[in-house]
Amino acid sequence: MKKILLSASLLAIISCSTSKKSIEDTQVDYAAKYAASITEKDLAKHLFVYASDEFEGRDTGEPGQKKAIAYLKDFYVTQGIASALGGDDYFQEVPAAFLNKRKRKTPIKASENVVAFIKGTEKPDEIVVISAHLDHVGMHDGKIYNGADDDGSGTVGMLEIAEAFQMAAKAGKGPKRSILFLHVTGEEKGLLGSKYYVENPIFPIANTVVDLNIDMIGRIDDRHKDNPNFVYLIGADKLSTDLHNLSEAINKKYMNIELDYKYNDENDPNRFYYRSDHYNFAKYNVPIIFYFNGTHEDYHKSTDTPDKINYDLLENRTRLVFHTAWEIANRDARLVVDKPTPVKTEK
Ligand SMILES: [Zn+2]
Repeated sequence: MKKILLSASLLAIISCSTSKKSIEDTQVDYAAKYAASITEKDLAKHLFVYASDEFEGRDTGEPGQKKAIAYLKDFYVTQGIASALGGDDYFQEVPAAFLNKRKRKTPIKASENVVAFIKGTEKPDEIVVISAHLDHVGMHDGKIYNGADDDGSGTVGMLEIAEAFQMAAKAGKGPKRSILFLHVTGEEKGLLGSKYYVENPIFPIANTVVDLNIDMIGRIDDRHKDNPNFVYLIGADKLSTDLHNLSEAINKKYMNIELDYKYNDENDPNRFYYRSDHYNFAKYNVPIIFYFNGTHEDYHKSTDTPDKINYDLLENRTRLVFHTAWEIANRDARLVVDKPTPVKTEK
């Protein structure tokens, strides 16, 4: 079987003239080609491990969270995706002193952000950040809080996005700008891992082009029971009209998901814009998009389990983030920040 396949592919190479090849090259939509590698099946495979009882709810600093970061590192090593720190250290340590600045009943032990990196081919100093929090709320009253949606969904989505970019890079279609895959810890303790990152960035914040933050993209909320192919977008237009327009155009071209801006309203009482990790980037005028499916009956309960995830929707939303990142990383111009806000320097 192997031999037959080999000769068939050889024939294909021989019959393909060089001029034909270059025409083909300009016609292939590489974004679509690599987006297709993001599948329900792979997302489910990762999530049934990542949100399993073995990971004990991934509480910041606890043994379950250490299992989670080992799983993420192992994935990147297997894929041949580099650490953002160089060498084989994929963990940006977040010290206990930082995590316990605010006094707590139970002090948090030292924890880690996981940082993987694909270097840009043309503008390596410009950094596209994709983020999702790796932690959840641990165990309470003998129950494990698996956090499959929160934020197992965003975490495994990011793994699949990284894999797609790496496949492209291996085929010589790597992103023009660099991509940082930033798995932050301590989100549930108050956005601490992302706060630590922006105060101790691996790459200068001034060169950070965008943060696409994914937090809960595997479920449906009550508002969308009858039209589940949706996602809430929050923050896209707050700093950059350019980003909002790009995001809309990319969705229209590739995914046609209903983009719901309900929570983007400044007057919305939930104030979700201020409630996940992207906000730490927005504070420094880095444009952000927060991808979110809204809250549901299993939110922050032990019943947020991987069997309840809508994997088809998770695939769609992950592909949307991938396409958006691809466009931002590969288009000629850097995103324009036309609505900067005064930077607060409090720590
Ligand atoms: Zn979350």
